[in-house]
Amino acid sequence: MAKKPAATKKRAATRPSPKKAGARSRKSSAPARSSRKKYVYLFANGKADGDRTMKDLLGGKGSGLAEMTNAGLPVPPGFTITTEACNLWYANHRHLPKTIEDEMLAAVRRLEQVTGAQFGSTENPLLVSVRSGAKFSMPGMMDTILNLGLNDQAVEGLKRRTSNGRFAFDSYRRFIQMFGNVVLEIPKDAFEHEFEAVKAERGARIDTDLGEEALREVVARYKKVVASRTHHPFPQDPFEQLRMSRDAVFRSWNNPRAKQYRRIYEIPDHIGTAVNVQKMVFGNTGERSATGVGFTRNPATGAREFFGEFLVNAQGEDVVAGIRTPQPINELQKVMPHAYQELRDITARLERHYKDVQDFEFTIEEDKLYMLQTRSGKRTGYAAVVIATDLVAERLLTPKEALLLVEPASLSQLLSPVFDPAEWKKMPVATKGLPASPGAASGQAVFTADHAVDWAQQGKKVVLVRKETAPDDIHGMEVAQGVLTATGGMTSHAAVVGRQMGKPSVVGAGALVIDEKNRVVTVNNQTIREGEFVSFDGLTGEVKLGQVATKPSEILQVLAGKMKAEASDIYQRFSKLLSWADKVRTLGIRANADLPDQAELAYAFGARGIGLCRTEHMFFGEGRIEKVQRMILAETEAERRAALAELLPLQRADFYGVLKAMHGEPVTIRTIDPPLHEFLPKREDLMVEVAKLEGGWGGQKELAVKRALLARVEQLHEFNPMLGHRGVRLGITYPEITEMQARAIFEAACQLAKEGIKATPEVMIPLVSHVKELRDQKVIVDRVAAEVMKEQGVKIKYLVGTMIEVPRGAVTADEVATEAEFFSFGTNDLTQLVFGFSRDDAGKFLSVYQEKKILDRDPFQSIDTVGVGGVVAIACEKGRKARPSLKLGVCGEHGGDPSSIHFFHKVGLNYVSASPYRIPVARLAAAQAAMQVKVGD
Ligand code: ADP
Ligand code: MG
Ligand code: MG
Repeated sequence: MAKKPAATKKRAATRPSPKKAGARSRKSSAPARSSRKKYVYLFANGKADGDRTMKDLLGGKGSGLAEMTNAGLPVPPGFTITTEACNLWYANHRHLPKTIEDEMLAAVRRLEQVTGAQFGSTENPLLVSVRSGAKFSMPGMMDTILNLGLNDQAVEGLKRRTSNGRFAFDSYRRFIQMFGNVVLEIPKDAFEHEFEAVKAERGARIDTDLGEEALREVVARYKKVVASRTHHPFPQDPFEQLRMSRDAVFRSWNNPRAKQYRRIYEIPDHIGTAVNVQKMVFGNTGERSATGVGFTRNPATGAREFFGEFLVNAQGEDVVAGIRTPQPINELQKVMPHAYQELRDITARLERHYKDVQDFEFTIEEDKLYMLQTRSGKRTGYAAVVIATDLVAERLLTPKEALLLVEPASLSQLLSPVFDPAEWKKMPVATKGLPASPGAASGQAVFTADHAVDWAQQGKKVVLVRKETAPDDIHGMEVAQGVLTATGGMTSHAAVVGRQMGKPSVVGAGALVIDEKNRVVTVNNQTIREGEFVSFDGLTGEVKLGQVATKPSEILQVLAGKMKAEASDIYQRFSKLLSWADKVRTLGIRANADLPDQAELAYAFGARGIGLCRTEHMFFGEGRIEKVQRMILAETEAERRAALAELLPLQRADFYGVLKAMHGEPVTIRTIDPPLHEFLPKREDLMVEVAKLEGGWGGQKELAVKRALLARVEQLHEFNPMLGHRGVRLGITYPEITEMQARAIFEAACQLAKEGIKATPEVMIPLVSHVKELRDQKVIVDRVAAEVMKEQGVKIKYLVGTMIEVPRGAVTADEVATEAEFFSFGTNDLTQLVFGFSRDDAGKFLSVYQEKKILDRDPFQSIDTVGVGGVVAIACEKGRKARPSLKLGVCGEHGGDPSSIHFFHKVGLNYVSASPYRIPVARLAAAQAAMQVKVGD
């Protein structure tokens, strides 16, 4: 089947995605028999006008009903009014042209013929349901009306036909209530109130205690409710009921819930809904009738088991509404064995037909089974992997087809520790933030990175709670179970690093009021002090105050060598699926990794190369920051060189480890990038310290040191450091830094070569906007490389290239490519600079931009294909023209985002680079891109 809706944010809903749904394809709309366009499609007696390919036009439900009808399955007959009619209705001031009204009337007449029942008949009244159904299923978001066609005469007809007055009047009162609520917009309470009153008067305990007489009374009262609320009697004409209900379904496309749902799942607003009008069947005629829902496999675990629930003597929503507790579907075998067997046969057939797990609805009327719906079932990431691999083993799918059944982003669910679901449910939600990095985190709250480290060393599990996190919190993040912040967006530091570490993170939980000094956080009047437990789910953003047990995922246990691959079923499936993906994809997959252990993990996850090794992250390690500060504070080149000489062996050791971990695959090492102030103490903090020392709180010597430091910090102060003295600009002003880094790289590579281990460094100069900047640095790198190779007597293959992240660099890519042997698109900075948005500040307005539909998505999360992507495309084209062998990659956060990966595949990059935990996601997304998009399309 084609790609289907997906869930980007919810655990239980992880099907392939509607992201590309915007591209409206009307290819499948069948041509009308006459020259006039067709707006109403019949399905009846084993023959339907539509079929499974017509989801755009008939909606998912309508196309499923048509397909099942064509397959000869027992589907109550009916017709579908198309999504085009819905869009026309909106365009036409909420009216349908007379031709379409006539087409609908003709369809009703056909339905009367086929069923032998008539609207409003006192002998055999035709009753129908009016059901919404858009292209992508939006369960429960829109409205359905059952038992339409009942009026004061028809109800007597229904009683006569079924010899069941209780049933007839119960159906009528349900209809008035549903119609009253959905169409006439009368609050449900108004009806409930009357119903309860009648129950009380008659001393009835449960609904079914009411007999025909009592239900006649309920109906009479309901009609009064309608008359008094609308100043019109309850409409008695079934055709009028139908028109009003149809329009109410059209209207429900734009109710707030439906709109919200579409926003979350990125379903376009303009596609509209179809309306299905279908002959009623009754699961509520007595003990030989039932209604239910089910899945052909378990949607949580993927297990091959029949899964679902049913209720005897019930109608429609009763099963999901939770008024009565439904029975597990296997019980149906006992009470209605024939219908059960038929249901098993039919659903098994549907699964084979659609080659995917089906989620179905059925009703049994007097032992006769009817199918009311079938669609691909939503499932967890875990279930998706199990199902995809099973369907291949069962030879229902080829490996390639199976790849399309798994939503790439959902794979990260398989990697994160999990809460015990029963335990999790027990606790109330305290607040919600942005679900930045999936996984379950539970631990004692700490408010500083240092405390996190101290506590962790004592063997405690901690959750780092911060207003925001900065690069120097990294050691605290490292040891924490998870990171929770009050501010920041999906690409804030905490989020980016959280994902890179596979660390569960919830960011921007605005309700948290954090008092770091007193070590307490308040959230909606509840208080948590340091050491008290907090838990959160990085997949949903939910935060709870208390402890919940977690366990690590099996896949990570296997990759870390703590568990045998043979012992983990899910690991084997996961790696099998990804090996299929590797055969299909053409994009290379690299990792963003700064340290040897991250590189090893990335390799284990399947990365073949490093796309970004940030050298400055190494500067924050144990005992290094002082040396870095000495380098920065140096007044003379000689002093600086002395400090750099101390850093050299440390960097060499880091590069040695990272290069070694990649087993000869290319490793892109970026020279120093951030503004220097990030390595120095904060100006305000220093001022306070100096003031204290001046007040006689310490020694003169210390005061002198701090004063000097403050002076230098003030000297380095910049108004806009992100646009200041950073990137290649540092290397140009302090060439000895580039020299030291190049030396560390080549010495490490030579050392490995001598040990017989291949190493392939690619030296990357950041933030280049002018070819001459790159030339300046390349001269240094090449010179040092030659020196080192000569000293060591070893030859190393290496490349020198640049990051394309400044618009000028991209626009002059043809010039830059005369020096660069590769480009790596730094799409984070490129997005900042193309939009002029600061990614640290954009959180404040980007949500409003999305609400107002100025932007569909956060451009820091998913690449803006038109603007930023347009710049990437220009740079690719110009760069390759100037140097055909130019290697092209991306190392921004977008390298791990599935829809961005589709774009990168399309523009013809050689590889994408993502944080280690997103490597599996990227492998699968790259394979899907290769199947769905041709390069250069
Ligand atoms: P949703 O998309 O919210 O599931 P549906 O249109 O599928 O809404 O219908 C809601 C409920 O009504 C379902 O339980 C469905 O099985 C039931 N239903 C819909 N049409 C009929 C019908 N013609 N006969 C009996 N039950 C129906
Ligand atoms: Mg349904
Ligand atoms: Mg950058």
